Amino acid sequence: MAKDVREIRINPIVPTESVLVATARSMRPKQKEELAPRDTRKHVDTCPFCTGNEHMTPPLIASYPDEAHWEVRIVENLYPVLGDETQAQNYSFGLQQAIDGYGRHEVIVDHNVHGIALFEMSEQHIATLFAAYQSRMKQLYESDKRLRYVLVFKNYGPAAGASMGHTHSQIIAMPVVPFNIQSEVDNSRDFFQKSGQCIFCTLINEAMTFEATIYDKESGEIKRKIDVGQYIIEKSDKFIAIKPFASRYEWEVHILPLSHQADFLEMSSEDALDFASVLRRTMCRLDAVIGGAQYNYFLHSLPHTSADAACKDSYHWHLEICPRTSIPAGFELGSGLFVNTISPEVAAAQLRDVDLT
Ligand code: AMP
Ligand code: ZN
Ligand code: ZN
Repeated sequence: MAKDVREIRINPIVPTESVLVATARSMRPKQKEELAPRDTRKHVDTCPFCTGNEHMTPPLIASYPDEAHWEVRIVENLYPVLGDETQAQNYSFGLQQAIDGYGRHEVIVDHNVHGIALFEMSEQHIATLFAAYQSRMKQLYESDKRLRYVLVFKNYGPAAGASMGHTHSQIIAMPVVPFNIQSEVDNSRDFFQKSGQCIFCTLINEAMTFEATIYDKESGEIKRKIDVGQYIIEKSDKFIAIKPFASRYEWEVHILPLSHQADFLEMSSEDALDFASVLRRTMCRLDAVIGGAQYNYFLHSLPHTSADAACKDSYHWHLEICPRTSIPAGFELGSGLFVNTISPEVAAAQLRDVDLT
């Protein structure tokens, strides 16, 4: 049996997202998230996102392949957190600052089948969904220079904050670049300036080629052994799914393009199919291991502000998939450290061992 891990792992890109990996039973400060029974219904008469109920959503923004036979549908959010009418000037007093909550909040109905899981969708469908994200993100960036970042994310299951059972994702166009993304951009730029390398490409390269044995100085005993490919969950011609060494969530997986690419909007339609295959297979693995995963995913891509646009060589877009299997509590909130009770090495091996044939 693998030895217990109890260590603080520093996220090499964003140190403030570091994690305490504590696998011993006595070190479990976290409540397990209850597994919610999955809503597998195909159609729900009262669901505003189901076919036949299109009148229950605000005006249509886009539909694929077309309005009458839609498979993916983008609409205004009925209860937007950001709105496109300016309400007040930005202001500050003393040390306090406020920025007008200007922006856009839209809903993407990911599929016309109410309770379909991502891994049950066809690769072509997933590619269409991500092409829809691309197209809408592009339009939003072009529509208004005040929009500094367009965030695409998905909440799936109540533990991930989803209030609607019908599979959906969301787009929020914001007047600021979120701090976590700005930190990724800034820190990867600093790394590039020092080393001439993209930190994400370096991490991918390490995941594919690196092996290490760490010995105890005194006893000579092997303390840690890292094998080649130990953190790789899936790999195709163009994409790789990696279990981060400093995973904040027990089953967290990131998907990145293998060749350097800063902006998600530059992914070609051919590559989108390859991406869809890696994402679908990753979700199949997660479902096989944790069953009915409730998760968030979000896209981190180069912001379009002029300062950030200069970081094309150092930033690298990616999708972060964060299954929600436990509830963050006082320790996490108080310390800012995420607690992960399953070693990323064990989780990666379990995900990789799933037979998808
Ligand atoms: P979630 O809370 O992650 O399930 O996201 C569902 C989103 O759908 C929320 O942001 C709601 O504001 C939004 N919403 C709820 N009902 C409707 C509706 N009838 N039309 C459009 N958006 C809706
Ligand atoms: Zn529905
Ligand atoms: Zn890169």
